Amino acid sequence: MIHIRQLHKSYHTEAISLHVLKGISLDIEAGEYVAVTGASGSGKSTLLNILGILDTYDAGDYHLNGTLIKNMSEREAAKFRNEMIGFVFQSFNLIHFKNALENVALPLYYKKVGRKKRNIIAMELLDKMGLKDWAHHMPNELSGGQKQRVAIARAMISGPKIILADEPTGALDSKTTIEVMDVLTNLNSEGITTIIVTHEKSVSDATNRIIHLKDGMIEYETRKNNGVHDTIPHVNMQSV
Ligand code: ADP
Ligand code: MG
Repeated sequence: MIHIRQLHKSYHTEAISLHVLKGISLDIEAGEYVAVTGASGSGKSTLLNILGILDTYDAGDYHLNGTLIKNMSEREAAKFRNEMIGFVFQSFNLIHFKNALENVALPLYYKKVGRKKRNIIAMELLDKMGLKDWAHHMPNELSGGQKQRVAIARAMISGPKIILADEPTGALDSKTTIEVMDVLTNLNSEGITTIIVTHEKSVSDATNRIIHLKDGMIEYETRKNNGVHDTIPHVNMQSV
């Protein structure tokens, strides 16, 4: 589903240019449950944003579902994102003056789905997240874990194939982290390809595969085998 070869990305500011991704090669198949780990500044968010077509890259190839993601217009990129990808962020990014139901339903408003229909679909998703009784509460009346579950429901409302989550539990305590990870694990078990950037071992251990970045390169990968993560050869070590 995701095929990346020799991906490079630099950021250029007036004074300096910063080489952030230095030749990443990676394949992620449909339905995988993946964590991306690595120190702060190692390029995790940059990689995730490129996967989500929120950002461009300088060299290499990125194929998503058979399509080369390169030189896309913003309109094409937006179409791809809307059809394929749901995003979840550390800071939830809920609209504070809309209730939980309205936040979840919002992507359908932009797709011109009628109010009644979008509210029915949003309510089903909130129910699935265990938040039916909270549908008419405002974000500031919800706990962090509840806010993140609202955000996950919103990410799911367009029926994405992939969930990209950037430190989704970074603002949560360990109890609500488990709450949110249970939701993501359930979605993955229903077939959603799930990719989570995280610092937390409890989060990466829940996934089936860990991709560890160091200084913009993949340092190692692990795969879960009988419940334990074993280091596996990375694609860069094989012939590409
Ligand atoms: P991580 O998510 O692993 O902490 P990032 O991908 O956010 O790392 O950032 C990698 C490096 O790129 C960092 O040094 C960061 O400061 C820099 N960086 C990220 N985004 C930008 C940007 N838009 N402009 C310039 N530098 C950036
Ligand atoms: Mg980051």
